[in-house]
Amino acid sequence: MSAAKKTLSFEFFPTRTPEGREKQTVTRKQLRQFAPEFFSCTSGAGGSTREGTLQTIADILAEGTPAAPHLPCIGMTVEEVKSLLDTYKEMGVRHIVALRGDIPSGMGAGGSGLRYANELVELIKNEYGSHFHIEIAAYPEYHPQARSADEDIENFVRKAKAGADSAITQYFYNADAYFRFVDEVQGRGVAIPVIPGIMPIASFSKLTRFSDTCGAEIPRWLRLKLQSYADDTAAIKALALDVVTEMCSRLLEQGAPGLHFYTMNQAGLSSTICQRLGY
Ligand code: FAD
Repeated sequence: MSAAKKTLSFEFFPTRTPEGREKQTVTRKQLRQFAPEFFSCTSGAGGSTREGTLQTIADILAEGTPAAPHLPCIGMTVEEVKSLLDTYKEMGVRHIVALRGDIPSGMGAGGSGLRYANELVELIKNEYGSHFHIEIAAYPEYHPQARSADEDIENFVRKAKAGADSAITQYFYNADAYFRFVDEVQGRGVAIPVIPGIMPIASFSKLTRFSDTCGAEIPRWLRLKLQSYADDTAAIKALALDVVTEMCSRLLEQGAPGLHFYTMNQAGLSSTICQRLGY
């Protein structure tokens, strides 16, 4: 396998303190050794982390790495979305992760704004042409609010055909779901690269909580095995590293165009997996 030829990217979330910002700078330095295509930074829907995301994106660009801000459009007016995109363009950003996002509890959807990510993709394409590389989200195990598997696939296809350049998936631990998803969307005329999103497992309890809300399934055998280790975090990490590395290896060998790591602002596990894969 020649992992070196596959694309690689790492995702961060905005930090809240100067210490956090400093720590993330060190994390990014460690991950830069793998020559990633870009670093991305998440953003809270409704503009809740706007300043933090802007700061992180500015830091990444200043270090000379391409930066991809996530832009969840829900809860924003069209004018606010355009103004943010103008700011990113002025900063030198060429890559956007275009998302709907989830409406924060207690907040309205923002009636004058965009309802779904396909509308955001259209807006970016219409207003900015090919300035931005548009990345969209994909759900091999289907979006948690999907009314049916088929409808979810159709919604993804519409979003891709609206002008997306590539997609990053929600994390999963079942490679077959990814391959089936890619086959299905390709069968419906979508040719863009679909990059698997990889979540290394640091804490089993956190992962289960997170997975319940975002609809990612932890296979029963893995869940029971990890549970059996109880508080033995070293054993959990060792098994999880093997399982995730093996899955990445299979994904790359069987045609995935690259990997996107959900780093949770930590370099350790993502680095170990990349090293084991030969990046
Ligand atoms: P959409 O593609 O709009 O889909 C949302 C739901 O609506 C799906 O069920 C879909 O089937 C349905 N749908 C889509 N289009 C239509 C339509 N035209 N008519 C009817 N139904 C439709 N969230 C954040 O808040 N901040 C982030 O930084 C962030 N980063 C992410 C990065 C990645 C790689 C991924 C996979 C997810 C990320 N998320 C983030 C989570 C994401 O915002 C949520 O999963 C959100 O619920 C859906 O966003 P989307 O862009 O996939 O939405």
